[in-house]
Amino acid sequence: MLIGGFQRFSLIDYPCKICAIVFTQGCNFRCPYCHNPELVYPKLFSHPIPAEDIFAFLETRHGKLEAVVITGGEPTLQPDLVEFTKRLKAAEYLVKLDTNGSNPRILSELIEQKTVDYLAMDVKAPLARYPEITNSNADPVKIKQSIELIKHSGLDYEFRTTVVKSQLGKNDILAICKQIRGSKRYVLQKFVPVNVLDTNVLNAVIYADADLECLRDAVKSYVAECVVR
Ligand code: SF4
Repeated sequence: MLIGGFQRFSLIDYPCKICAIVFTQGCNFRCPYCHNPELVYPKLFSHPIPAEDIFAFLETRHGKLEAVVITGGEPTLQPDLVEFTKRLKAAEYLVKLDTNGSNPRILSELIEQKTVDYLAMDVKAPLARYPEITNSNADPVKIKQSIELIKHSGLDYEFRTTVVKSQLGKNDILAICKQIRGSKRYVLQKFVPVNVLDTNVLNAVIYADADLECLRDAVKSYVAECVVR
């Protein structure tokens, strides 16, 4: 695992659990609004943190921490992700994975091996707009496969979209909701214009809180729960 950061404590990154967060290095997307350029651009990578340091820390936190969140970057790019999650489960931690959904093969393996407890997938755009919005060669077929895998995984999960008004209009959000129709939980994430991958996005038009509430009302028939954060 190429681990670029480790946060020892969080109350907000795993629903209702006290967790630590592992940040992996490397991503195959280039979302302009990304808040983690130091985990995306290899030239900005810090010296990786040894996995053994993290397991040694977790060993001392039983009864205090309940879960570990693996985020990035894109964690499914790490060749030893499955082994890493197996070790976390063996250490009796709940595991949440944040993913961009580009690697359904690894997601399928994690689900089959029961080494994750919660999946959070960013749904960046309507499928046809993926390459444009992610500024990459994202494969919409794989994104669709990941959505279906997660929906039928039997695990806790959420889909979420960072909404930049000048990138995604109401019809785009509705198209995304049709892609995830029937899902448990959908999160509309407000774009915060700080520390981004592409500074051009700092001037982007963003949704006001009232607009986000309207969007939430517009999509609530597609999903069991829609929240704004
Ligand atoms: S926001 Fe986009 S570029 Fe940044 S880590 Fe997530 S998928 Fe990669």
